[in-house]
Amino acid sequence: MLGDDTTTENRLRLLQAEFTQYQRTRPDPTGRTATRTEAAAPVNLDTLDYMAAAAARMIKHTQAAVPGIDPYAGPLLGLYDWAREHTAHLDEHRQRAREALIYQQGLEHAIAAGDTTVVSKHPCPECGCWGLIWREERRKAVCVNHYCVNAKGLSHAWTLERLAREHIAAKSAVTSRAT
Ligand SMILES: [Zn+2]
Repeated sequence: MLGDDTTTENRLRLLQAEFTQYQRTRPDPTGRTATRTEAAAPVNLDTLDYMAAAAARMIKHTQAAVPGIDPYAGPLLGLYDWAREHTAHLDEHRQRAREALIYQQGLEHAIAAGDTTVVSKHPCPECGCWGLIWREERRKAVCVNHYCVNAKGLSHAWTLERLAREHIAAKSAVTSRAT
């Protein structure tokens, strides 16, 4: 889709751009931003670590699905195409698992870049309400419906993995109905 910024690749691109921007501000000759950039350095390293960990997870997932293939060694942005190419022959269940992980990483990239509103675009898997709220300390999306609570009376909270699985399952249900 033209101008679609919601794909996992595009979210990764945004995150990378943000990372590169931080890097570029470091040698500021005025020295005025020195304190700020020094403070930003750990964020950079976190982002770098984060991206490496996400890539490693995707590669591991693909290698587990297709034993014997070489690990991916190309640019980060080609990773998801690589994963799709190598698993295109697998059954629907495995392809869905791959898409769920790719989608999950898209949500993670957006959150890593500071956009936590991505979770609100998913209905709560329990009550179907919209407007989930991201809780960074729990790394979960919490339902805002006061009646949507578990046995302990606590609001239902969902991992990104669960939201991604629900999203891909709903999407493939729509696709199979349409064909
Ligand atoms: Zn709910």
